[in-house]
Amino acid sequence: MGEARRCRATAPDGREHETGPGAPARNPGDFVLAVRGTLPILLSAPHGGRQRPPGLVRRQHGTVARDIGTAELAREVAREIERQAGLRPYLVAARFHRAYVEANRAEDDGAYGDADGAAYWRAYHGALHGFVGEIRNRWHGFGLLIDLHGQGAHPESIVRGTRNGRTVQALLARAGDAAQNGPKSLRGRLEAVGYAVQPASEDSGQSEPHAYDGGYIVATYGSHQSGGIDAIQIETGGAIRRDRNRRGEYARHLAGALVAFYENFIAAGPERPAGG
Ligand SMILES: [Zn+2]
Repeated sequence: MGEARRCRATAPDGREHETGPGAPARNPGDFVLAVRGTLPILLSAPHGGRQRPPGLVRRQHGTVARDIGTAELAREVAREIERQAGLRPYLVAARFHRAYVEANRAEDDGAYGDADGAAYWRAYHGALHGFVGEIRNRWHGFGLLIDLHGQGAHPESIVRGTRNGRTVQALLARAGDAAQNGPKSLRGRLEAVGYAVQPASEDSGQSEPHAYDGGYIVATYGSHQSGGIDAIQIETGGAIRRDRNRRGEYARHLAGALVAFYENFIAAGPERPAGG
């Protein structure tokens, strides 16, 4: 987590900073939605934002397309978890467009060498870093970070990225491969309600697709890092997240899978969490 340790100055206050028409955002913190939770699940959505931070220049190279529908998906999953479990996940979502600030890369890359851009990058990672530390403190090191993305190569599929198990090292150590690949895993729960998930469970042992095997965020905050928590990147296919109705149904299914994951692998862990 070395990169993010520099972010303490922008530690989140957990309040939701809504900005509407006629109330333009004024500082980097206004471009990051950060909501404190009551459940040790943290949803991150770095690529769903639409806004241009003042003074920043749009990048012309690399991947600049936003992950359409993922900011909405993060909020919908959060609402569904609260409806189903009566508990609220932590949520960090970028309002800035990734063409201006890329939060799923290290700071120098992600801010494109721009000092103003770095302040937005730090607002995002300050929130993530603060919430990961808080979850570890409140729930005795247990917790799950879900980094939500979109991919277009497999429009009807969900691609899981954990650097082939590294970013969920603590989960695998305490609950075994079943927690990652069995019927009670996120993959197993999503497959049971009809989604295609890569790598597929019948190919147990198969590597995660290289392009989607986990980016900077899960690599930085995953449980293989000291101070991290289990972290899973979820790349949702375009057909599932672009259509409002399909996305809503998917949000309900993903929320259900996450609530069940919490009950099976966090609340029922070897040390009961302190809760609250
Ligand atoms: Zn993405």
